[in-house]
Amino acid sequence: MILWGNLKKFRKMLCLFIFSKKKTTLMKYKDIAQFMYENEEPFTSIRQKSLVFSYIGSNSKQEKAQVYNLVMKIQLRYKRCSSNYERFLAREKKWISTNFQLKESLQTQNPKKKIVKPVKRKKRTFNLLGKGGKNNRIRELRDEYDPEAIKEAIIQFERQSGNMKMVRLLKQIFKDQSQIDGLLAVLDSKPSFSETNTVPTEAATSFLLMNDISKKTYLNIRDISLRYGLRWPSYQEIILAKESCRPSKDHLTVTSDSAIYQPIEVVRHTLDRIIDSDVLEMIKRESSADRDRIHLDFVLKAGMDGTSGLELYKQTRSDDATTSEQNEQSLLVSHIMPLLLRSKNEHNLIYFQADKPSSRTSCRPLALKFKKENQDSVVEEYERMTADFESNQVFEIEINGEHGRLTLVIHLTVLMVMVDGKIINLLTNNSSQRCVTCKAGPKELMNPNGDFTAIPHCLRFGLSILHFSINSFRNIMNIAVRLDFKERDCRGEERKAKRDLQHERICIEFKQKLNLVIDVPKTGGFGTTTDGNSCRKAFENAEVFAEITNVDVGLISRIWLISIAISTRIELCPNKFKSFCDDTRLLYHELYSWYPMCPSMHRVLVHGHEFIREVTAPIGLSIGYTSEEPLESTNRLLKYFRLHRTRKDSRTHTMTDWINRLMDTSDPRLHQYGKTSGGRSKQYPDAVRNMFKIPNV
Ligand SMILES: [Zn+2]
Repeated sequence: MILWGNLKKFRKMLCLFIFSKKKTTLMKYKDIAQFMYENEEPFTSIRQKSLVFSYIGSNSKQEKAQVYNLVMKIQLRYKRCSSNYERFLAREKKWISTNFQLKESLQTQNPKKKIVKPVKRKKRTFNLLGKGGKNNRIRELRDEYDPEAIKEAIIQFERQSGNMKMVRLLKQIFKDQSQIDGLLAVLDSKPSFSETNTVPTEAATSFLLMNDISKKTYLNIRDISLRYGLRWPSYQEIILAKESCRPSKDHLTVTSDSAIYQPIEVVRHTLDRIIDSDVLEMIKRESSADRDRIHLDFVLKAGMDGTSGLELYKQTRSDDATTSEQNEQSLLVSHIMPLLLRSKNEHNLIYFQADKPSSRTSCRPLALKFKKENQDSVVEEYERMTADFESNQVFEIEINGEHGRLTLVIHLTVLMVMVDGKIINLLTNNSSQRCVTCKAGPKELMNPNGDFTAIPHCLRFGLSILHFSINSFRNIMNIAVRLDFKERDCRGEERKAKRDLQHERICIEFKQKLNLVIDVPKTGGFGTTTDGNSCRKAFENAEVFAEITNVDVGLISRIWLISIAISTRIELCPNKFKSFCDDTRLLYHELYSWYPMCPSMHRVLVHGHEFIREVTAPIGLSIGYTSEEPLESTNRLLKYFRLHRTRKDSRTHTMTDWINRLMDTSDPRLHQYGKTSGGRSKQYPDAVRNMFKIPNV
């Protein structure tokens, strides 16, 4: 039996047959099956359904479905009988003799199951399709539409989504194919960065040093930044930049227990780093054009400090070691800090001014020596420094720039002020009980009308302003514990007991009222918990301070006002300062004439105005610039750098890395990249403002 006969003919006939019977009578399945058999045309493929429908196009969807189902049903049962017509008739005898009515069946059938069965499957979302499905869909689209239309459609879609950058890009690519190569090159190559998103080497070096980042951390930061389009310089470039932060190696002498730079070379190098292209431009502009020799004033402060409690390293000692192991726990450090660079003419134009004169950050090391802080070592270092500075009071720097040769004549002023009382006493062979400047001892210090004429050159060590408030605080405490008997001497059991009782009460009250811990020895045996911050807090709360100690509140607040005045960066008028100090001193003598004023308080109250007049005023800086604070705060950092930022494979390596790290972190040029936290604009008390050289600043 031929089942694939004239398809078209069969369908036409089937439709005619069904619809001719439809109106009048019932049909049996058998009739249709027979018709199909006779016409040798069973449906074999689902695709044929559309052809059937094309013949019965005028009918409703439901009817189409009905016809289709009918045909399929017969076909299915026919196939089950191995496409054998005889067998089909025998096996499906019962079924084919049932009635079939088109209209009626439409109504009786479950409409959901039968009728609503979608003729066309709903198209699935493209993204949900499998790979093959996607390919089919794309092929359909490609076959059906013009490529130009598809391109336009994409552009239109992006425009509707508001993605105008994409619209621009697509238009460009579709319009001008020649640009494709260029775009591809950009995508293929490692991103080629423009100047703007490359971190300058100096800025990166500054970032690394100021944040104390290790090489490993730096390289990790570099990697992740590169991924997001920011290029940091390679570590090799950083190493080179760090080297330029240091004077030439030729001027560095390293032994197993010292690292020493020639002082004047550090000064020259510091100056070199300060005078960058901007400063040079300024210098040239301000000085008259035809001069090739420009005179400049360069002011810096210098000093030294001893620190102890360093760890002993188990490194092999070489033969050149001059110190005993014992001494290796003590270190003597000397530093300089640039304060001011300005033109040496009537204009006094300032090209550089230290913005944090009390911070350790711009302290440049001159020497690190494992030595005890004693007279020999201190005097030796002091003489080494001063000899070098004095023989180079005026020196020249040659600059070969774009605009030809230029000679800068530098007039050097070094203030030896970064020294604490201990160092000054060692240098001047003075006892700690006496005033450094006039050598007055405790007896003279008790005399309100004493002769305190300054000994020449003894003003140069500054006023030790950091220690002023701490020592004044101690002075007041000493008065407070003796108020019961009002005598300097504490001899005898009775007085000692009274003193100790008062001391205990005062310490407890400080804890209760101001939450301050006073005079508790620190572990390790270095000083007590009475530090600058505790003193500041006590003085700021002058009334509570006076209430606890029973010392006159007027005196306490006057001392505090002087302490503020000498640490400002605004110039003071020596006369006004003197008169305020004199009143304070007389008040002290009036109230507590039985206890000598401590030398550091005396130094500020009596010699402060002389120091302003003779040392700071000629330079044009305030006393605040001469603080010894920077050195005091480096000690912890020194230990940290030695432990974490040096090689330990040999003593000389440790020393070299140590001094280099200090040199790198203090580089003035790198500091430009740091945070510029503008100093808090302080509101000064009226009494302090009245001491200013120019009132109402
Ligand atoms: Zn004195």
